Amino acid sequence: MADSKDDSTYVPLLSERHSGIPEWLLEKAQQAKMHALSSATEDQTPRRRATVYPPGVEESVFIEAVNELREQLGTDQVVLNDQLLHDGWYMEHPNTHDMMYILDQDELVPSSIVYPGSTEEVQQVVRWANKYLLPIFPISMGRNFGYGGAAPRVRGSVLIDLGKRMNKILDINPDDYTCLVEPGVSFFALHDEVKRRGYDLWIDTPDVGGGSVIGNTVDRGVGYTPYGDHWAVHSGLEVVLPTGEVIRTGMGALPGNNTWQTFPYGFGPYSDGIFSQSNYGIVTKMGMALMPDPGGYESFIYTFPKEEDLTQLIEIIRPLRISNILENAAQLRHVIQSIAVLGHPRNTYYRGESAIPIDIIHEAVSKTALGDHTWVYYGMSYGPPHIRKYKLDIIDTEFNKVPGARRIDPTTLGPDEYFWSRDRIASGVPDVQELRWVQWVPNGAHIAFSPVSPIRGADATRLIEIARRRHDEFGIDLLPAFIVGLREMHLIVEIVFDRTDRARRKAALDCLRAMIDDAAECGYGEYRTHLVLMDQIAGTYNWNDGALMKFNEKLKDALDPNGILAPGRCGIWPRKYRGRGWEMTRESGESS
Ligand code: ADP
Repeated sequence: MADSKDDSTYVPLLSERHSGIPEWLLEKAQQAKMHALSSATEDQTPRRRATVYPPGVEESVFIEAVNELREQLGTDQVVLNDQLLHDGWYMEHPNTHDMMYILDQDELVPSSIVYPGSTEEVQQVVRWANKYLLPIFPISMGRNFGYGGAAPRVRGSVLIDLGKRMNKILDINPDDYTCLVEPGVSFFALHDEVKRRGYDLWIDTPDVGGGSVIGNTVDRGVGYTPYGDHWAVHSGLEVVLPTGEVIRTGMGALPGNNTWQTFPYGFGPYSDGIFSQSNYGIVTKMGMALMPDPGGYESFIYTFPKEEDLTQLIEIIRPLRISNILENAAQLRHVIQSIAVLGHPRNTYYRGESAIPIDIIHEAVSKTALGDHTWVYYGMSYGPPHIRKYKLDIIDTEFNKVPGARRIDPTTLGPDEYFWSRDRIASGVPDVQELRWVQWVPNGAHIAFSPVSPIRGADATRLIEIARRRHDEFGIDLLPAFIVGLREMHLIVEIVFDRTDRARRKAALDCLRAMIDDAAECGYGEYRTHLVLMDQIAGTYNWNDGALMKFNEKLKDALDPNGILAPGRCGIWPRKYRGRGWEMTRESGESS
């Protein structure tokens, strides 16, 4: 175990820090750290930099404001972001910028970072921001990698790092199977606390477990147990509004209630929706349903030989998923991902400039335990053996209709196989193995294209064609996976790029912008996106002359008259910013 911060294998533990790693995952995290650092080829010496100020605010006024807030919260709880920018890695990210920057590293940076310790202090910060007309940007933990990390949308905003001091698990209820958490509670922390208390219940975790439960849920992130749609299983929010008042939603509005975490709606309009993927409030508490231990589980894995199998497969998956024979948001991944998750850089296989030729990938995968394939399906069946058998038999019959389908016996797979990582995640055990493919290129970073479509073979094929054509045009390796929800699926295409290489960053961004427009022309929209792409994507949801955005703007102006809370997040700009060139689009270039 690493015990000194000078030791290069040091990784902070959950017992030391709210954002740390559980002790049982320490060795894996240390390996992941070594892996991440070993791929750094550029001189990572951070650049000296000057303070960035919020837009339109004079230096002297800003310093006066900072001093005033320091008096209220304590000197150490307000820091200027005038230090060198270190990128760190997944477990040790600095929250000073987006560690996976797609623009220049110094572009999306806050002027300062504030650490409130309570809901009351969040209210104080909000009132202070209104007094000085400063843009503020809340984060829970800042691990929203691929979507902007800890970065604010407006350069020079004051970042509110909620997680550092507001990280309590306020309740885990083993009778109702619910919990109530603060922003700094990670999936690692919630999992470990459930285990520590010996409760017979599961949490749901995304691919990597270090993110905040609240941060992930309000950005509508997903996991892989039957409770994977986090927003759908949350119940009850406490929110500080942009004018400083605090509300509790659903049953939380009823004093003395004991149903805040069990009945999400309460009475009257269901207001929770406006606090996800928005800039209408700061969530300081959230309730969430937890899953009873299903009494057994079994992962399964099938491979399919040909690209063209996609159409038939998706048609087979749809009725199985909607009728819940396939019970979790399963993954259908392309063969290139089977290679990328091994963690070797692409130049192990190919040194050319263009997208990696598919025959090289097939040759490489033939030597692995999965054998040659084009698509691989990872799923899990839940319940005691006789219940699982009923479902698994149906799945086997249906999947075998694809010629050459192969079920792989998990007992033939070694303990380090990626399959076991999927097995852990689908049973609610957080992991870090997914980080491996980020080192596909040196100084690896990633950013996603994630359009939503019906679960139909024709849509899957059309989306893959759009993605492939644009990836080839920009010389980028295509890493696609389909995540099947219940009645829809997301295609997730992760572009992995060298963040220190300006040309590769530009290629990634140009490719994304082109795919977003291509997809919108065919009627597909993205479910979530990076800060830099929010204006473009919000612009594609423009039915009836942009009626939805006009409605969003009306809400914004009513709730946030001074336009201080996360201006521009999800493409929603407050009145004072509108029509003044703040949007980032293909035409506006790469400056924020
Ligand atoms: P995580 O660490 O879980 O990946 P982040 O803390 O980076 O998530 O949050 C993701 C995004 O969601 C942030 O950039 C921010 O815009 C928004 N967000 C996160 N936490 C809150 C919150 N408590 N209230 C309002 N918005 C939030």
